[in-house]
Amino acid sequence: MALLTIDLNALAANYRTIAARVAPARAAGVVKADGYGLGAVPVADALYRAGCRDFFVALTGEAHALRPTLPADARLFVLNGIAPGEEAALVDADAIPVLNCPADIARWGAAARINGRRLPAALQVDSGMSRLGLAPAEVAAIAADPRLLADIDVVLVMSHLACGDEPGSAANEAQRARFDELASMLPHAPRSLANSGGSFLDGGFHGDLVRPGIALYGGAPQEDRPNPMRPVVALDARIVQWRDVPAGTGVGYGLTSVADHDRRIATLSYGYADGWPRMLSNRGAAYVAGVRAPIAGRVSMDSICIDVTGVPLDLLVATPHAELIGPHQTIDRVAADAGTIAYEILTSLRHRHARRIVALREQEDATCGS
Ligand SMILES: *Cc1c(COP(=O)(O)O)cnc(C)c1O
Repeated sequence: MALLTIDLNALAANYRTIAARVAPARAAGVVKADGYGLGAVPVADALYRAGCRDFFVALTGEAHALRPTLPADARLFVLNGIAPGEEAALVDADAIPVLNCPADIARWGAAARINGRRLPAALQVDSGMSRLGLAPAEVAAIAADPRLLADIDVVLVMSHLACGDEPGSAANEAQRARFDELASMLPHAPRSLANSGGSFLDGGFHGDLVRPGIALYGGAPQEDRPNPMRPVVALDARIVQWRDVPAGTGVGYGLTSVADHDRRIATLSYGYADGWPRMLSNRGAAYVAGVRAPIAGRVSMDSICIDVTGVPLDLLVATPHAELIGPHQTIDRVAADAGTIAYEILTSLRHRHARRIVALREQEDATCGS
């Protein structure tokens, strides 16, 4: 069996690192896409115990699944607005939708009147990414007609950085200025702009609440900077067999890997159906007993061949598993080899094999909430 290990102590430590960095701003936890593929329930529980009280998912269904597991004082935001017909489900989940457009505002106002009480919401403005949020003209229209928000309790005004992971980008400063300008036209409420990358920009980007995701899970928050986060994920795949392959012999589908020397090839029980990118065919590596073993040939659905010629035979024989993610190979390294980002690597991993969750240690637990 392959084994995906998720270290909740490292996750909690990463949360505390960010919370300490941005104080007096508070840190939320972004747990959309099932906690970036690691399991939203254990992830949110560990974050809560580390002091997190604000959680972000993308979808109403995600909020519904998570809400019953969260204590009552945890706030749960839904980033992707209100899909038509989901108002009641959001109210039912005690979720706080992020209103991204005038139609969202109208829907939530109508839901409030049906429920006979004002309903909480976050307002998102587009400060320059052109993805989600109220356009400047829509913000101006709301400012001119406050009745549009009469039934809505605005608990957060937010926007999102396009280049938060690029500390040198001039776009960050431009977005911050635009955000401040737009937010000041809306009802007074706590402000939130920064994702993981933004949390590592200067304090002017932190507002009242930062919204880290990838950094909590061990991904590098900013490019071209040392990664200050602790790794959270390890992935080990079972070595099914190995064989000696003479020079000139092809390996895998299409026989795309051929060498002019004898090789030793091991086959792992892990493949693209498990979430390992097929793009890593003849690219990237696994590690066996700490020795780099390049991927040889195409990644198959359920298996990957690796070149273990450099692994001493006694070590190979004694090593049942190869490391795909772990001390020798970060999620950012795998992503770079595959031409993608760590987010996609994590959210692609399936739960077809065993998952081991390293529970929070009591000692670390005891410091929670601080
Ligand atoms: C996904 C997301 C985040 C978290 O982003 P990271 O880069 O993972 O830190 C924060 N805010 C919004 C609006 C998002 O969509």
